[in-house]
Amino acid sequence: MNDVLLSAKNLTKRFGGLAAVNDVSVDLWRGRIHAVIGPNGAGKSTLTNLLSGDLPLTSGSVQLGDKDVTGWRPEKISAQGLGRSYQKTNIFLPFTVWENVRLAAQSRAPHAASWLSRAIKYRAINDRAESAIALSGLKNRKNSIAGTISHGEQRQLEIAMTLATGPQVLLLDEPLAGMGAVEAERMVSLLQSLKKDHGILLVEHDMDAVFALADQLTVMVNGQVIASGTPAEIRLDASVQAAYLGEDIGEESV
Ligand code: ADP
Ligand code: MG
Repeated sequence: MNDVLLSAKNLTKRFGGLAAVNDVSVDLWRGRIHAVIGPNGAGKSTLTNLLSGDLPLTSGSVQLGDKDVTGWRPEKISAQGLGRSYQKTNIFLPFTVWENVRLAAQSRAPHAASWLSRAIKYRAINDRAESAIALSGLKNRKNSIAGTISHGEQRQLEIAMTLATGPQVLLLDEPLAGMGAVEAERMVSLLQSLKKDHGILLVEHDMDAVFALADQLTVMVNGQVIASGTPAEIRLDASVQAAYLGEDIGEESV
C-alpha cells in the first residue's frame, strides 16, 4: 500500500524579488506523514498553496496520482483527490457542524443531470459527510452550531470538511495552532488514524506533535530546504540546530 500519491519537483515561487519557495521537491506516500517545519516566513504555507493550486508556480511540476496537475485550477486539483485545510479557519460559524461538512462534501460532487442520478448523488454526498464527521470524532457535535463548539473541535471540523471532499492526499497547515494540551493530543491521534488511507503533508510548529507523527521531515528556512530525512536524522542535523538557535526540537520524545 506504500505508493507515492503526490510528487512535486523543483517548486519555486517568487513574489517580486523574493523567492518564498526556492527549488523545493517533496513526495507524499500513502501511509506516511511528511512534516514541513521551519521558522515563520520560511515558505511553508506558500509551499502548501503551490501544491493545492491556490498559488501559481513560478517553476516546477506537481504530479498527483497518475496526472500531471501543474498549472491546474484548485477546484480541479481538489477533484483529482487533494484536500487541504488552511492556516486561517474556513468554517461558516452560524451553520451547524453537519451543514458545514455537508456543504464541503457537495462542493466537490459533479453535477448530476437526471432526477435518478441526483437522488443517488444526494445519498452519496450525505454518506461522505457522515463518514467524515465520524472519522474526525465529531459525531456528538453533529447538530451543534459551529460557532459554539470549542476551538479544538473547530479544527477537527476543518479536518472533517477536508475529508468530506474524498481526498487521497491531505495538506494540513498548522492543525494544532492555538490548541491546549488535551486538544492537541486528540488532534495527534486523529492525524495518526488518517495516515493509513492518506498521504499527508503536515505543516506544524508543535514539535512534540511533529516528532510523534512524522515519518519524514523537511526543514525549510528562507524558502529553501536545509535538511530532509527521518525524524532521527533531522534531530542530529547541525544546520537544523543552528537554524532553530537551540530551540527544543523534541529531543526528549525519542
Ligand atoms: P510560513 O508559512 O513558513 O510562515 P509563508 O509561506 O507564509 O511562510 O511566507 C514565506 C515568505 O513569502 C514570507 O516572506 C512572506 O512574507 C512571503 N509571502 C507569502 N505570501 C505572499 C504574497 N501573497 N505576496 C508577497 N509575499 C508573500
Ligand atoms: Mg504559514
